[in-house]
Amino acid sequence: MKEWTLFRMNDFLGNAGIIGLLKLLNKIDSKAENYKIEDMQVEVRTKLLLETDLTGAYFDTLIDEYEEECIYNRILKKIILLIQEENKQDKNYQKELKALKKDLESNRYKTGYETIKDKLDTSNDLYEELKRLLVLKESDEITECLLQINTLLNHKIIKETFYMKDIAYFIINNFWESKSFLNRNNTKKDMKEVHRAEIEEVLKQYLKAEDKGKNICVECGDEISGKSSISSSFINDFSEDFARKNSNYWNFKPNCFFCPKCLFLYTLIPLGFTKMGQNFLFINANDSLENLIFMNSGKLEVDEQKDNNNYHYLYNQVLQTLNEKNIGRVSNIQVITRSIEENEYRFDIINNYILTLLGECKKELQQLSKYSYIKDTEGYRNIYEEVLLHLLYNQELYRLLNELLCFGLNTKNEYVIHSCKLIYQIEERKKNMINKTNKNYYRVARDGNEYRKSMEINGKDDATVGISYKMLNALKCQDCNQFLDIVIRLSNSLKRNVPKGLIATLNDIEEFKRIGYAFVLGFRGGYYTKDENEQELDGQLLEEKMNQEFKEGGEENE
Ligand SMILES: [Zn+2]
Repeated sequence: MKEWTLFRMNDFLGNAGIIGLLKLLNKIDSKAENYKIEDMQVEVRTKLLLETDLTGAYFDTLIDEYEEECIYNRILKKIILLIQEENKQDKNYQKELKALKKDLESNRYKTGYETIKDKLDTSNDLYEELKRLLVLKESDEITECLLQINTLLNHKIIKETFYMKDIAYFIINNFWESKSFLNRNNTKKDMKEVHRAEIEEVLKQYLKAEDKGKNICVECGDEISGKSSISSSFINDFSEDFARKNSNYWNFKPNCFFCPKCLFLYTLIPLGFTKMGQNFLFINANDSLENLIFMNSGKLEVDEQKDNNNYHYLYNQVLQTLNEKNIGRVSNIQVITRSIEENEYRFDIINNYILTLLGECKKELQQLSKYSYIKDTEGYRNIYEEVLLHLLYNQELYRLLNELLCFGLNTKNEYVIHSCKLIYQIEERKKNMINKTNKNYYRVARDGNEYRKSMEINGKDDATVGISYKMLNALKCQDCNQFLDIVIRLSNSLKRNVPKGLIATLNDIEEFKRIGYAFVLGFRGGYYTKDENEQELDGQLLEEKMNQEFKEGGEENE
Protein backbone atom coordinates (compact mmCIF):
# COMPACT_ATOMS: atom_id res chain seq x y z
CA MET A 1 0.00 0.00 0.00
CA LYS A 2 1.30 3.43 -0.93
CA GLU A 3 1.82 5.80 1.97
CA TRP A 4 0.39 8.73 0.04
CA THR A 5 -2.57 8.88 -2.34
CA LEU A 6 -2.14 11.38 -5.10
CA PHE A 7 -4.81 13.61 -6.67
CA ARG A 8 -3.51 15.57 -9.63
CA MET A 9 -4.98 18.71 -11.22
CA ASN A 10 -6.79 18.00 -14.44
CA ASP A 11 -9.66 19.53 -16.39
CA PHE A 12 -12.20 21.77 -14.66
CA LEU A 13 -14.30 18.88 -13.34
CA GLY A 14 -11.32 17.18 -11.77
CA ASN A 15 -10.17 20.51 -10.38
CA ALA A 16 -13.59 21.19 -8.87
CA GLY A 17 -13.30 17.72 -7.35
CA ILE A 18 -9.97 18.68 -5.78
CA ILE A 19 -11.44 21.83 -4.24
CA GLY A 20 -14.24 19.60 -2.90
CA LEU A 21 -11.66 17.16 -1.56
CA LEU A 22 -9.87 19.93 0.29
CA LYS A 23 -13.13 21.05 1.87
CA LEU A 24 -13.74 17.48 2.92
CA LEU A 25 -10.23 17.12 4.37
CA ASN A 26 -10.70 20.32 6.22
CA LYS A 27 -13.79 18.87 7.80
CA ILE A 28 -12.05 15.63 8.72
CA ASP A 29 -8.71 16.79 9.88
CA SER A 30 -6.90 20.03 9.46
CA LYS A 31 -3.58 18.56 10.55
CA ALA A 32 -1.04 19.48 7.94
CA GLU A 33 0.92 16.26 8.31
CA ASN A 34 -1.97 14.29 6.82
CA TYR A 35 -2.03 16.01 3.47
CA LYS A 36 0.33 18.00 1.32
CA ILE A 37 -0.66 20.67 -1.17
CA GLU A 38 1.95 20.90 -3.87
CA ASP A 39 2.36 22.70 -7.14
CA MET A 40 -0.28 20.89 -9.19
CA GLN A 41 -1.45 18.19 -6.84
CA VAL A 42 -2.61 17.21 -3.41
CA GLU A 43 -1.34 14.16 -1.59
CA VAL A 44 -3.35 12.60 1.19
CA ARG A 45 -2.03 10.06 3.68
CA THR A 46 -3.65 6.80 2.57
CA LYS A 47 -4.07 5.80 6.21
CA LEU A 48 -6.25 8.86 6.79
CA LEU A 49 -8.51 7.93 3.88
CA LEU A 50 -8.78 4.35 5.08
CA GLU A 51 -9.53 5.18 8.70
CA THR A 52 -12.03 7.98 8.10
CA ASP A 53 -15.80 7.75 7.80
CA LEU A 54 -15.64 9.43 4.40
CA THR A 55 -19.37 9.19 3.79
CA GLY A 56 -20.17 10.80 7.11
CA ALA A 57 -17.69 13.58 6.39
CA TYR A 58 -19.11 13.99 2.87
CA PHE A 59 -22.65 14.41 4.18
CA ASP A 60 -21.53 16.82 6.92
CA THR A 61 -19.55 18.96 4.49
CA LEU A 62 -22.40 19.08 1.97
CA ILE A 63 -24.89 20.09 4.64
CA ASP A 64 -22.54 22.77 5.97
CA GLU A 65 -22.09 24.11 2.50
CA TYR A 66 -25.67 24.00 1.24
CA GLU A 67 -27.85 24.12 4.35
CA GLU A 68 -29.11 27.61 3.61
CA GLU A 69 -30.22 26.58 0.13
CA CYS A 70 -32.40 23.75 1.39
CA ILE A 71 -36.17 23.75 1.61
CA TYR A 72 -35.72 21.79 4.81
CA ASN A 73 -33.94 24.74 6.33
CA ARG A 74 -37.03 26.87 5.72
CA ILE A 75 -39.24 24.18 7.22
CA LEU A 76 -37.16 24.15 10.41
CA LYS A 77 -37.42 27.91 10.70
CA LYS A 78 -41.12 27.86 9.90
CA ILE A 79 -42.05 25.40 12.61
CA ILE A 80 -40.42 27.55 15.27
CA LEU A 81 -42.57 30.48 14.16
CA LEU A 82 -45.66 28.28 14.25
CA ILE A 83 -44.88 27.18 17.80
CA GLN A 84 -44.37 30.78 18.90
CA GLU A 85 -47.53 32.13 17.24
CA GLU A 86 -50.05 33.17 19.90
CA ASN A 87 -53.24 33.15 17.92
CA LYS A 88 -53.55 29.50 16.99
CA GLN A 89 -57.25 29.67 16.23
CA ASP A 90 -56.88 31.97 13.27
CA LYS A 91 -57.96 30.69 9.84
CA ASN A 92 -54.60 31.56 8.34
CA TYR A 93 -52.88 29.60 11.05
CA GLN A 94 -54.70 26.45 10.00
CA LYS A 95 -53.62 27.13 6.43
CA GLU A 96 -50.02 27.37 7.58
CA LEU A 97 -50.26 24.05 9.36
CA LYS A 98 -51.63 22.44 6.23
CA ALA A 99 -48.79 23.91 4.19
CA LEU A 100 -46.24 22.54 6.65
CA LYS A 101 -47.77 19.08 6.40
CA LYS A 102 -47.79 19.26 2.62
CA ASP A 103 -44.15 20.31 2.49
CA LEU A 104 -43.08 17.46 4.71
CA GLU A 105 -45.15 14.99 2.75
CA SER A 106 -43.23 15.59 -0.43
CA ASN A 107 -42.08 12.37 -2.01
CA ARG A 108 -38.38 12.71 -1.35
CA TYR A 109 -38.86 13.22 2.40
CA LYS A 110 -41.37 10.42 2.65
CA THR A 111 -39.20 7.85 0.90
CA GLY A 112 -36.21 9.09 2.87
CA TYR A 113 -38.12 8.66 6.10
CA GLU A 114 -39.06 5.09 5.18
CA THR A 115 -35.39 4.17 4.75
CA ILE A 116 -34.37 5.29 8.25
CA LYS A 117 -37.54 4.76 10.27
CA ASP A 118 -36.25 1.58 11.87
CA LYS A 119 -33.07 3.25 13.03
CA LEU A 120 -34.81 5.88 15.13
CA ASP A 121 -34.68 5.58 18.89
CA THR A 122 -38.18 6.95 19.34
CA SER A 123 -41.67 5.51 19.16
CA ASN A 124 -43.10 8.74 17.76
CA ASP A 125 -43.80 8.69 14.07
CA LEU A 126 -43.40 11.90 12.11
CA TYR A 127 -46.21 11.27 9.65
CA GLU A 128 -48.62 10.10 12.36
CA GLU A 129 -47.90 13.30 14.28
CA LEU A 130 -48.57 15.36 11.17
CA LYS A 131 -51.91 13.66 10.66
CA ARG A 132 -52.81 14.30 14.28
CA LEU A 133 -51.79 17.95 14.01
CA LEU A 134 -54.57 18.82 11.62
CA VAL A 135 -57.41 17.44 13.73
CA LEU A 136 -56.41 19.14 16.97
CA LYS A 137 -58.51 22.09 18.07
CA GLU A 138 -57.07 23.31 21.38
CA SER A 139 -54.12 25.70 21.20
CA ASP A 140 -52.23 23.83 23.90
CA GLU A 141 -52.61 20.54 22.09
CA ILE A 142 -51.43 22.07 18.84
CA THR A 143 -48.37 23.51 20.55
CA GLU A 144 -47.61 20.19 22.17
CA CYS A 145 -47.92 18.34 18.86
CA LEU A 146 -45.75 20.89 17.04
CA LEU A 147 -43.10 20.50 19.71
CA GLN A 148 -43.14 16.74 19.14
CA ILE A 149 -42.78 17.24 15.41
CA ASN A 150 -40.00 19.75 15.94
CA THR A 151 -38.09 17.26 18.10
CA LEU A 152 -38.44 14.66 15.37
CA LEU A 153 -37.36 17.07 12.66
CA ASN A 154 -34.24 17.85 14.65
CA HIS A 155 -33.46 14.21 15.30
CA LYS A 156 -29.92 13.69 14.03
CA ILE A 157 -30.78 10.96 11.53
CA ILE A 158 -33.98 12.55 10.20
CA LYS A 159 -32.39 15.94 9.89
CA GLU A 160 -29.40 14.58 8.03
CA THR A 161 -31.53 12.48 5.68
CA PHE A 162 -33.96 15.27 4.84
CA TYR A 163 -31.16 17.74 4.25
CA MET A 164 -29.39 15.23 2.05
CA LYS A 165 -32.59 14.58 0.09
CA ASP A 166 -32.81 18.28 -0.73
CA ILE A 167 -29.12 18.44 -1.57
CA ALA A 168 -29.23 15.33 -3.75
CA TYR A 169 -32.21 16.50 -5.79
CA PHE A 170 -31.46 20.19 -6.04
CA ILE A 171 -27.68 20.38 -5.94
CA ILE A 172 -25.82 17.16 -6.63
CA ASN A 173 -27.90 15.97 -9.57
CA ASN A 174 -26.78 19.04 -11.46
CA PHE A 175 -23.34 17.45 -11.56
CA TRP A 176 -23.75 13.71 -11.42
CA GLU A 177 -26.52 11.14 -11.20
CA SER A 178 -27.30 7.47 -11.59
CA LYS A 179 -24.77 6.45 -8.96
CA SER A 180 -24.98 5.93 -5.22
CA PHE A 181 -28.13 7.48 -3.72
CA LEU A 182 -29.02 9.06 -7.05
CA ASN A 183 -29.33 5.70 -8.75
CA ARG A 184 -33.04 5.00 -9.17
CA ASN A 185 -32.62 1.47 -7.93
CA ASN A 186 -31.40 2.84 -4.62
CA THR A 187 -34.26 5.22 -3.87
CA LYS A 188 -35.65 2.95 -1.22
CA LYS A 189 -32.33 2.42 0.52
CA ASP A 190 -30.64 4.40 3.27
CA MET A 191 -28.62 7.11 1.49
CA LYS A 192 -25.64 6.81 3.77
CA GLU A 193 -25.43 3.05 3.50
CA VAL A 194 -25.67 3.19 -0.27
CA HIS A 195 -22.98 5.81 -0.58
CA ARG A 196 -20.72 3.98 1.81
CA ALA A 197 -21.06 0.75 -0.15
CA GLU A 198 -20.83 2.16 -3.68
CA ILE A 199 -18.24 4.88 -3.28
CA GLU A 200 -16.38 4.74 0.01
CA GLU A 201 -15.84 0.99 0.27
CA VAL A 202 -14.94 0.72 -3.41
CA LEU A 203 -12.26 3.36 -2.85
CA LYS A 204 -10.94 1.73 0.29
CA GLN A 205 -10.69 -1.70 -1.31
CA TYR A 206 -8.87 -0.20 -4.26
CA LEU A 207 -6.39 1.67 -2.04
CA LYS A 208 -5.66 -1.47 -0.06
CA ALA A 209 -5.17 -3.73 -3.10
CA GLU A 210 -1.55 -4.52 -3.93
CA ASP A 211 -2.20 -5.49 -7.53
CA LYS A 212 -4.38 -2.84 -9.08
CA GLY A 213 -4.76 -4.30 -12.57
CA LYS A 214 -3.54 -3.81 -16.10
CA ASN A 215 -5.95 -1.22 -17.50
CA ILE A 216 -5.46 2.49 -17.25
CA CYS A 217 -7.79 5.11 -15.73
CA VAL A 218 -8.60 7.75 -18.37
CA GLU A 219 -8.42 10.49 -15.80
CA CYS A 220 -5.38 9.92 -13.63
CA GLY A 221 -3.55 7.20 -15.53
CA ASP A 222 -3.47 4.87 -12.52
CA GLU A 223 -3.83 1.15 -13.02
CA ILE A 224 -7.21 -0.49 -12.81
CA SER A 225 -8.52 -3.95 -13.30
CA GLY A 226 -11.59 -4.71 -15.35
CA LYS A 227 -13.40 -5.26 -12.06
CA SER A 228 -12.51 -1.91 -10.53
CA SER A 229 -13.11 0.21 -13.61
CA ILE A 230 -16.09 2.54 -13.52
CA SER A 231 -17.90 4.06 -16.47
CA SER A 232 -17.73 7.83 -16.49
CA SER A 233 -21.33 8.10 -17.69
CA PHE A 234 -22.63 9.10 -14.25
CA ILE A 235 -21.06 12.54 -14.60
CA ASN A 236 -23.21 15.05 -16.43
CA ASP A 237 -21.60 16.32 -19.63
CA PHE A 238 -18.37 14.59 -18.73
CA SER A 239 -17.21 14.41 -22.27
CA GLU A 240 -18.67 15.50 -25.55
CA ASP A 241 -17.16 12.39 -27.01
CA PHE A 242 -19.07 10.19 -24.73
CA ALA A 243 -22.36 10.22 -26.61
CA ARG A 244 -20.50 9.52 -29.80
CA LYS A 245 -18.50 6.69 -28.33
CA ASN A 246 -21.62 5.14 -27.01
CA SER A 247 -22.68 4.41 -30.60
CA ASN A 248 -22.33 1.30 -32.68
CA TYR A 249 -19.08 2.53 -34.18
CA TRP A 250 -17.53 1.93 -30.78
CA ASN A 251 -19.53 -1.21 -30.41
CA PHE A 252 -21.63 0.51 -27.70
CA LYS A 253 -18.68 0.31 -25.38
CA PRO A 254 -17.60 3.74 -24.31
CA ASN A 255 -14.00 3.39 -23.35
CA CYS A 256 -13.92 6.05 -20.66
CA PHE A 257 -13.23 4.17 -17.48
CA PHE A 258 -12.30 5.54 -14.13
CA CYS A 259 -10.46 4.18 -11.17
CA PRO A 260 -12.29 4.22 -7.80
CA LYS A 261 -10.12 7.13 -6.68
CA CYS A 262 -11.41 9.28 -9.54
CA LEU A 263 -14.94 8.11 -8.88
CA PHE A 264 -14.57 9.33 -5.31
CA LEU A 265 -13.03 12.60 -6.49
CA TYR A 266 -15.81 13.26 -9.01
CA THR A 267 -18.54 12.79 -6.43
CA LEU A 268 -16.94 15.79 -4.70
CA ILE A 269 -17.52 18.15 -7.64
CA PRO A 270 -20.66 19.69 -6.05
CA LEU A 271 -18.45 20.83 -3.17
CA GLY A 272 -16.02 22.54 -5.52
CA PHE A 273 -18.62 24.76 -7.15
CA THR A 274 -20.25 27.70 -5.42
CA LYS A 275 -23.95 28.27 -5.81
CA MET A 276 -25.02 31.77 -6.73
CA GLY A 277 -28.73 32.19 -7.26
CA GLN A 278 -29.65 29.89 -10.10
CA ASN A 279 -26.06 29.27 -11.14
CA PHE A 280 -23.12 27.28 -9.94
CA LEU A 281 -19.74 28.82 -10.36
CA PHE A 282 -16.20 27.56 -10.51
CA ILE A 283 -13.12 29.62 -11.28
CA ASN A 284 -10.63 27.36 -12.99
CA ALA A 285 -7.35 29.12 -12.34
CA ASN A 286 -5.39 26.10 -13.41
CA ASP A 287 -1.81 27.29 -13.39
CA SER A 288 -1.27 26.07 -9.85
CA LEU A 289 -3.21 24.46 -7.08
CA GLU A 290 -2.39 27.37 -4.84
CA ASN A 291 -4.14 29.77 -7.23
CA LEU A 292 -7.03 27.41 -7.75
CA ILE A 293 -7.66 27.34 -4.00
CA PHE A 294 -7.14 31.04 -3.74
CA MET A 295 -9.66 31.87 -6.46
CA ASN A 296 -12.33 29.55 -5.15
CA SER A 297 -11.99 30.35 -1.48
CA GLY A 298 -14.63 32.23 0.39
CA LYS A 299 -18.23 32.60 -0.56
CA LEU A 300 -19.24 35.10 -3.16
CA GLU A 301 -21.68 37.61 -1.82
CA VAL A 302 -25.10 37.39 -3.38
CA ASP A 303 -27.48 40.25 -2.99
CA GLU A 304 -30.87 38.65 -2.39
CA GLN A 305 -32.70 41.78 -3.46
CA LYS A 306 -31.37 41.42 -6.95
CA ASP A 307 -32.19 39.40 -9.94
CA ASN A 308 -29.69 36.65 -9.19
CA ASN A 309 -30.50 34.78 -12.35
CA ASN A 310 -29.03 37.51 -14.39
CA TYR A 311 -25.86 36.27 -15.97
CA HIS A 312 -24.35 39.73 -16.01
CA TYR A 313 -24.96 40.04 -12.34
CA LEU A 314 -23.15 36.78 -11.76
CA TYR A 315 -20.26 37.85 -13.88
CA ASN A 316 -19.99 41.05 -12.00
CA GLN A 317 -19.71 39.18 -8.78
CA VAL A 318 -16.84 37.21 -10.25
CA LEU A 319 -15.08 40.34 -11.38
CA GLN A 320 -15.72 41.93 -8.04
CA THR A 321 -14.14 38.95 -6.34
CA LEU A 322 -11.20 39.11 -8.70
CA ASN A 323 -10.89 42.78 -7.98
CA GLU A 324 -10.90 42.23 -4.24
CA LYS A 325 -8.28 39.52 -4.45
CA ASN A 326 -4.74 40.01 -5.47
CA ILE A 327 -5.20 39.10 -9.08
CA GLY A 328 -1.75 40.06 -10.24
CA ARG A 329 -0.57 36.52 -9.68
CA VAL A 330 -3.05 34.80 -11.95
CA SER A 331 -2.89 34.62 -15.72
CA ASN A 332 -5.86 33.72 -17.94
CA ILE A 333 -8.66 32.14 -16.00
CA GLN A 334 -11.57 30.08 -17.08
CA VAL A 335 -14.87 30.92 -15.43
CA ILE A 336 -17.29 28.02 -15.50
CA THR A 337 -20.93 28.43 -14.69
CA ARG A 338 -23.62 25.87 -14.68
CA SER A 339 -27.11 27.25 -14.89
CA ILE A 340 -29.78 25.14 -13.22
CA GLU A 341 -32.30 26.34 -15.76
CA GLU A 342 -30.33 25.54 -18.88
CA ASN A 343 -28.65 22.53 -17.33
CA GLU A 344 -25.36 23.00 -19.08
CA TYR A 345 -21.90 24.35 -18.50
CA ARG A 346 -20.90 27.70 -19.82
CA PHE A 347 -17.27 28.61 -20.27
CA ASP A 348 -15.80 32.06 -20.31
CA ILE A 349 -12.26 33.20 -20.32
CA ILE A 350 -11.27 36.27 -18.43
CA ASN A 351 -8.07 37.01 -20.22
CA ASN A 352 -4.85 38.42 -19.07
CA TYR A 353 -5.66 41.88 -20.38
CA ILE A 354 -8.86 42.14 -18.32
CA LEU A 355 -7.08 40.79 -15.26
CA THR A 356 -4.24 43.28 -15.64
CA LEU A 357 -6.71 46.08 -16.26
CA LEU A 358 -8.65 45.21 -13.11
CA GLY A 359 -5.36 45.24 -11.23
CA GLU A 360 -4.41 48.61 -12.70
CA CYS A 361 -7.76 50.17 -11.81
CA LYS A 362 -8.03 48.53 -8.43
CA LYS A 363 -7.93 51.75 -6.48
CA GLU A 364 -10.57 53.49 -8.57
CA LEU A 365 -12.81 50.45 -8.61
CA GLN A 366 -12.63 50.08 -4.88
CA GLN A 367 -13.61 53.70 -4.45
CA LEU A 368 -16.44 53.34 -6.92
CA SER A 369 -17.71 50.27 -5.12
CA LYS A 370 -18.01 52.21 -1.88
CA TYR A 371 -20.41 54.74 -3.30
CA SER A 372 -21.73 52.80 -6.21
CA TYR A 373 -25.44 53.58 -6.14
CA ILE A 374 -26.88 56.59 -7.86
CA LYS A 375 -30.56 57.34 -7.86
CA ASP A 376 -31.96 58.53 -11.15
CA THR A 377 -35.49 58.73 -12.50
CA GLU A 378 -35.64 54.98 -13.02
CA GLY A 379 -34.48 54.10 -9.51
CA TYR A 380 -31.08 53.04 -8.23
CA ARG A 381 -28.25 52.33 -10.57
CA ASN A 382 -25.09 50.57 -9.58
CA ILE A 383 -22.37 52.50 -11.35
CA TYR A 384 -19.65 50.19 -10.13
CA GLU A 385 -21.30 47.19 -11.74
CA GLU A 386 -21.85 49.07 -14.95
CA VAL A 387 -18.18 50.01 -15.07
CA LEU A 388 -17.09 46.41 -14.44
CA LEU A 389 -19.22 45.19 -17.32
CA HIS A 390 -17.81 47.84 -19.61
CA LEU A 391 -14.32 46.65 -18.73
CA LEU A 392 -15.21 43.03 -19.22
CA TYR A 393 -16.52 43.66 -22.70
CA ASN A 394 -13.73 46.08 -23.40
CA GLN A 395 -16.12 48.94 -24.08
CA GLU A 396 -15.23 52.59 -23.89
CA LEU A 397 -16.47 54.31 -20.75
CA TYR A 398 -17.20 57.68 -22.36
CA ARG A 399 -20.83 56.95 -23.10
CA LEU A 400 -21.45 56.11 -19.45
CA LEU A 401 -19.44 59.14 -18.42
CA ASN A 402 -21.52 61.35 -20.67
CA GLU A 403 -24.75 60.01 -19.26
CA LEU A 404 -23.60 60.58 -15.71
CA LEU A 405 -22.30 64.06 -16.37
CA CYS A 406 -25.66 64.97 -17.92
CA PHE A 407 -27.42 63.47 -14.95
CA GLY A 408 -25.13 65.47 -12.67
CA LEU A 409 -26.29 68.71 -14.31
CA ASN A 410 -29.76 68.30 -12.88
CA THR A 411 -28.88 67.15 -9.45
CA LYS A 412 -27.22 68.55 -6.41
CA ASN A 413 -25.72 65.16 -5.74
CA GLU A 414 -22.07 66.10 -5.25
CA TYR A 415 -20.61 62.69 -5.54
CA VAL A 416 -21.89 62.04 -9.03
CA ILE A 417 -19.00 64.20 -10.16
CA HIS A 418 -16.63 62.15 -8.03
CA SER A 419 -17.83 58.99 -9.72
CA CYS A 420 -17.32 60.71 -13.06
CA LYS A 421 -13.75 61.52 -12.18
CA LEU A 422 -13.08 57.93 -11.21
CA ILE A 423 -14.59 56.67 -14.45
CA TYR A 424 -12.48 59.08 -16.43
CA GLN A 425 -9.44 57.97 -14.50
CA ILE A 426 -10.19 54.31 -15.32
CA GLU A 427 -10.50 55.11 -19.01
CA GLU A 428 -7.13 56.87 -18.76
CA ARG A 429 -5.56 53.81 -17.17
CA LYS A 430 -6.80 51.74 -20.07
CA LYS A 431 -5.12 54.14 -22.45
CA ASN A 432 -1.91 54.13 -20.45
CA MET A 433 -1.83 50.38 -20.68
CA ILE A 434 -1.56 50.62 -24.44
CA ASN A 435 1.08 53.33 -24.14
CA LYS A 436 -1.12 56.22 -25.04
CA THR A 437 -0.04 58.41 -22.21
CA ASN A 438 -1.11 62.01 -22.53
CA LYS A 439 -0.52 64.35 -19.67
CA ASN A 440 -2.35 67.13 -21.49
CA TYR A 441 -5.60 66.27 -19.93
CA TYR A 442 -4.53 67.51 -16.51
CA ARG A 443 -3.86 70.91 -17.97
CA VAL A 444 -7.08 70.93 -19.92
CA ALA A 445 -9.04 69.94 -16.82
CA ARG A 446 -7.39 72.81 -15.02
CA ASP A 447 -8.39 75.15 -17.85
CA GLY A 448 -11.96 73.89 -17.58
CA ASN A 449 -11.88 74.60 -13.88
CA GLU A 450 -10.61 78.13 -14.44
CA TYR A 451 -13.29 78.83 -17.03
CA ARG A 452 -15.92 77.96 -14.49
CA LYS A 453 -14.30 80.16 -11.86
CA SER A 454 -14.20 83.08 -14.31
CA MET A 455 -17.86 82.60 -15.07
CA GLU A 456 -18.69 82.66 -11.38
CA ILE A 457 -16.67 85.85 -10.91
CA ASN A 458 -18.48 87.43 -13.85
CA GLY A 459 -21.84 86.43 -12.37
CA LYS A 460 -22.57 83.95 -15.13
CA ASP A 461 -22.75 80.79 -13.05
CA ASP A 462 -26.36 80.20 -14.11
CA ALA A 463 -25.15 79.69 -17.65
CA THR A 464 -22.72 76.88 -16.79
CA VAL A 465 -25.40 74.19 -16.85
CA GLY A 466 -26.58 75.13 -20.34
CA ILE A 467 -23.05 75.31 -21.69
CA SER A 468 -22.12 72.01 -20.09
CA TYR A 469 -25.12 70.40 -21.65
CA LYS A 470 -24.14 71.67 -25.10
CA MET A 471 -20.57 70.47 -24.67
CA LEU A 472 -21.71 67.03 -23.56
CA ASN A 473 -24.01 66.81 -26.52
CA ALA A 474 -21.17 67.62 -28.89
CA LEU A 475 -19.01 64.99 -27.22
CA LYS A 476 -21.77 62.43 -27.48
CA CYS A 477 -22.14 63.10 -31.21
CA GLN A 478 -18.34 63.18 -31.53
CA ASP A 479 -18.73 66.56 -33.14
CA CYS A 480 -15.36 68.12 -32.63
CA ASN A 481 -16.14 71.33 -34.51
CA GLN A 482 -19.22 72.06 -32.51
CA PHE A 483 -17.38 71.46 -29.28
CA LEU A 484 -14.58 73.81 -30.28
CA ASP A 485 -17.14 76.37 -31.38
CA ILE A 486 -18.68 76.36 -27.90
CA VAL A 487 -15.28 76.68 -26.22
CA ILE A 488 -14.17 79.48 -28.58
CA ARG A 489 -17.32 81.51 -27.90
CA LEU A 490 -16.83 80.95 -24.20
CA SER A 491 -13.17 81.95 -24.42
CA ASN A 492 -14.11 85.16 -26.23
CA SER A 493 -16.73 86.11 -23.71
CA LEU A 494 -14.32 85.43 -20.85
CA LYS A 495 -11.44 87.08 -22.71
CA ARG A 496 -9.24 84.00 -22.42
CA ASN A 497 -7.12 82.04 -24.86
CA VAL A 498 -8.56 78.78 -26.19
CA PRO A 499 -6.86 75.88 -24.32
CA LYS A 500 -3.94 74.66 -26.40
CA GLY A 501 -4.51 71.02 -25.63
CA LEU A 502 -7.92 71.19 -27.26
CA ILE A 503 -6.74 72.57 -30.56
CA ALA A 504 -4.17 69.80 -30.81
CA THR A 505 -6.88 67.17 -30.90
CA LEU A 506 -8.69 68.45 -33.97
CA ASN A 507 -7.67 65.60 -36.21
CA ASP A 508 -7.99 62.72 -33.81
CA ILE A 509 -11.46 61.77 -32.65
CA GLU A 510 -10.17 59.58 -29.80
CA GLU A 511 -7.93 62.30 -28.46
CA PHE A 512 -10.75 64.78 -28.87
CA LYS A 513 -13.02 62.73 -26.61
CA ARG A 514 -10.27 62.28 -24.09
CA ILE A 515 -9.37 65.95 -23.88
CA GLY A 516 -12.97 67.11 -24.29
CA TYR A 517 -14.18 65.12 -21.31
CA ALA A 518 -11.23 66.32 -19.25
CA PHE A 519 -12.29 69.89 -20.02
CA VAL A 520 -15.93 69.24 -19.09
CA LEU A 521 -14.91 67.44 -15.91
CA GLY A 522 -12.81 70.44 -14.89
CA PHE A 523 -15.64 72.72 -15.87
CA ARG A 524 -18.03 70.76 -13.65
CA GLY A 525 -15.72 71.09 -10.68
CA GLY A 526 -13.82 67.87 -11.13
CA TYR A 527 -10.43 69.51 -10.68
CA TYR A 528 -8.70 70.75 -7.57
CA THR A 529 -5.53 72.68 -6.92
CA LYS A 530 -3.65 72.19 -3.72
CA ASP A 531 -2.90 75.85 -3.15
CA GLU A 532 -2.46 79.08 -5.06
CA ASN A 533 1.31 78.71 -5.42
CA GLU A 534 1.20 75.38 -7.09
CA GLN A 535 2.09 75.67 -10.74
CA GLU A 536 1.50 72.22 -12.09
CA LEU A 537 -0.56 69.39 -10.79
CA ASP A 538 0.77 66.01 -11.71
CA GLY A 539 -1.30 62.88 -12.15
CA GLN A 540 -0.49 61.46 -8.76
CA LEU A 541 -1.49 64.61 -6.99
CA LEU A 542 -4.69 64.97 -8.96
CA GLU A 543 -5.52 61.45 -8.01
CA GLU A 544 -4.89 62.09 -4.33
CA LYS A 545 -6.98 65.19 -4.52
CA MET A 546 -9.76 63.35 -6.24
CA ASN A 547 -9.67 60.64 -3.65
CA GLN A 548 -9.66 63.09 -0.81
CA GLU A 549 -12.49 65.07 -2.30
CA PHE A 550 -14.38 61.91 -3.16
CA LYS A 551 -14.18 60.79 0.43
CA GLU A 552 -15.52 64.06 1.70
CA GLY A 553 -18.28 64.04 -0.87
CA GLY A 554 -19.20 60.50 0.06
CA GLU A 555 -19.30 61.24 3.75
CA GLU A 556 -21.59 64.17 3.23
CA ASN A 557 -23.94 61.92 1.37
CA GLU A 558 -24.05 59.15 3.88
ZN1 LIG B 1 -8.23 7.57 -11.83
